[in-house]
Amino acid sequence: MNTQKIIQAGKIAKQVREFIEPLIKKDMPLLDIAKKIEDKIKELGGEPAFPTNLSINNIAAHYTPSHDDKTLAHGLLKVDFGVHVDGWVADTAFSIDLENNEENKKLIQASKDALDNAIKLIKDNYSQGHSGENSVQKGGALKPTTSEIGKTIQETIESAGFSPVINLSGHEIKQYELHAGLTIPNMDNKKNILLKEGLYAIEPFTTTGNGKVHDGSPSGIYMLVDEKTPRSQTAREVLNFIIEKYSTLPFCSRWIVKELGIKSLFGLKQLEDNGNLHNFPQLVEIQGSKVAQTEHTILIEKGEVIVTTE
Ligand code: MN
Ligand code: MN
Repeated sequence: MNTQKIIQAGKIAKQVREFIEPLIKKDMPLLDIAKKIEDKIKELGGEPAFPTNLSINNIAAHYTPSHDDKTLAHGLLKVDFGVHVDGWVADTAFSIDLENNEENKKLIQASKDALDNAIKLIKDNYSQGHSGENSVQKGGALKPTTSEIGKTIQETIESAGFSPVINLSGHEIKQYELHAGLTIPNMDNKKNILLKEGLYAIEPFTTTGNGKVHDGSPSGIYMLVDEKTPRSQTAREVLNFIIEKYSTLPFCSRWIVKELGIKSLFGLKQLEDNGNLHNFPQLVEIQGSKVAQTEHTILIEKGEVIVTTE
């Protein structure tokens, strides 16, 4: 791992969050918010690690504005963005209530508290019992496990009267790999997997509903899955650009239109049909209930726990 680049990406993410949070107002076009975030990331010396997710109310994740999007900010808005420096990612999210709604505020607070408690649990375990490169010995057992973290998240959210979204989870991060290796659940999944040293995103999702999301419409957020050569020249040009510019990190149709023009949308469609790209679905709460999210990235290295995006 490149500690210096991981820390740098985290610092940029923190600055961007502090820059954008006070600027977001009801009825601001989502396109403007995404542009401000992504421009600021570049201005500070990073690159967007994935398209800015601006998901409203019952859409839990994977809504990014299209190039001609007309949606205005409203409701309970989740702002989830990433920064990378040479493929080392900082992944962070916050939620805003744009309706002055008490339930929204409580739902957001519960996701914040769940994240705080999860981070506290990890820090406590590491500071009290670190016993080697990769493990923590405490009372004879290796801790913390990912299920204990999930249990803390679940209990915090349930004690506030809400449910965690159990089929969304935090994740390990590797270079140019946003979702790698370990999963950090938002519930006690009873899997006693030790949280080893590494880079992780923790992201509790809270909901007033039952606690599950399903796949919605295609999001226009893509990821390269196969480099096989497509037949059309347009598609080949778009593919080469994607390999060069984004590698294995997610990108979106809005970025492709901006860089290569509106005609490149045909190339994108051909690449999808040819099996080169995965088009992520939007993730929508199954009962149509509201969802809030808070996320930070943590680096655990040499027995030390650093919240890179805080
Ligand atoms: Mn995120
Ligand atoms: Mn994440």
